[in-house]
Amino acid sequence: MEKIRTRYAPSPTGKMHVGNLRSALYEFLIAKHAGGDFMLRIEDTDQERFVDGAIEIIYRTMEKTGLIHDEGPDKDGGYGPYVQSERMKTGIYMKYAQELVDKGEAYYCFCDRERLASLKTEVVEGKEISIYDKHCLGLSGEEVEANLAADMPFVIRQNIPNEGTTTFHDELYGDITVENSELDDMILIKSDGFPTYNFANVVDDHTMNITHVVRGNEYLSSSPKYVRLYDAFGWQVPVYIHLPLITDENHKKLAKRSGHASFEDLLEQGFVTEAIINYIALLGWSPEDNREIFSLRELIENFDYHRISKSPAVFDIVKLRWMNGEYIKAMDFDVFYGMAQPYLQSALPGNFDLKKIAAMVKTRIEVFPDIADMVDFFRELPEYDAAMYTHKKMKTDTASSLEVLREVLPILEAQEDYGNDALYQALSAYVEQKGYKNGYVMWPVRTAVSGKQMTPAGATEIMEILGKEESLRRIRKGIELLQNA
Ligand code: GLU
Repeated sequence: MEKIRTRYAPSPTGKMHVGNLRSALYEFLIAKHAGGDFMLRIEDTDQERFVDGAIEIIYRTMEKTGLIHDEGPDKDGGYGPYVQSERMKTGIYMKYAQELVDKGEAYYCFCDRERLASLKTEVVEGKEISIYDKHCLGLSGEEVEANLAADMPFVIRQNIPNEGTTTFHDELYGDITVENSELDDMILIKSDGFPTYNFANVVDDHTMNITHVVRGNEYLSSSPKYVRLYDAFGWQVPVYIHLPLITDENHKKLAKRSGHASFEDLLEQGFVTEAIINYIALLGWSPEDNREIFSLRELIENFDYHRISKSPAVFDIVKLRWMNGEYIKAMDFDVFYGMAQPYLQSALPGNFDLKKIAAMVKTRIEVFPDIADMVDFFRELPEYDAAMYTHKKMKTDTASSLEVLREVLPILEAQEDYGNDALYQALSAYVEQKGYKNGYVMWPVRTAVSGKQMTPAGATEIMEILGKEESLRRIRKGIELLQNA
């Protein structure tokens, strides 16, 4: 069987968006699942959209996410060059365009802007496009020669008949047939000599031996034109896999400006690479058993592209946060601590046992920036309301809490060892002596030392971090608050 070869073919136009990363990931997984090759090709034929630094972002992202290519601009596999502007210099696109012209499948067009502007337009997918009227198809060979000799600017267009239909096959959508009259004679070579994406992708995918083409379904409508090119050349059409749209929570196309749509933005928001990749894998694909947590290696093992769905995938930040939390929980503590430290340091300047606090928050945060809110109270007791002492399940209220705090204060004053175990024993002895339920005492104590309803640890663990002096100050403050309640 033929070796599977896929390619990620980004245009260097800026950040790496979730949709780009998903294409790269799926191409990678399809190749690796089948023991094939994954290639990187830079599609920079649209010089106007080129953004400085975008190629570096692509390399950085691929490396960080582990989507390691077997071939690419920096790794020659015998199919180079791997950058379209460099391929152009070899004359490859012009050579193949000329072959189509010779076969009558393409033609030179010398129409100027004014003439093109006067053509009738049609609205296709909300965009107004003009349908070229084949005016230059009527030029004789001599006329074309004369125009070229006179250095008249030209483009080369695909010649699509007005009659008949074109059918192509997509692995997910099945056979799609369109009327040829709906297909525009698209430009293959532009007036600046560069090929269009539409032409270059066909020439490159064929000459680079690509077997599977995976891309967003915005390319679905152009695919009949690509298939016509393959047929005109007598080339084998690759397997097409068009991926479902990714939408936001409101079922609108995921917009670049919505902040969380690029890989770099997600990293900045405190998501970890492995969770992002895992989540993106599920944007349009699911395994048979609905399992959700996959390492990249496990994705390679399990990724059967026939299970890619056609329905739009919703980019759900809540779900991604949950998944990120799962990754943080499973993380080796030292790795976690290394990543959490900057957040802890900025939330808690001064003398805190950050390692202990890190251990408290590890199982509770979803993204690293959650740390600040969760640990702030160690630095400063927040203003809080006496009503917080009332807890139905613990059977506490302001009066019971006042009594408990008054009684534990001398115990905590006398206590020398402020380690968690010792403090716990001291309070448990009081609980037992009074015949109370644990929570009846621990709830008010924890409320007093934290001023918060939710804390990453219990009362005595918090006191261990705060130390004796600060713990007692907070208990006394609680008593004061309750007295005035
Ligand atoms: N350069 C195209 C893009 O970035 C590639 C599409 C494809 O994979 O064919 O959208």
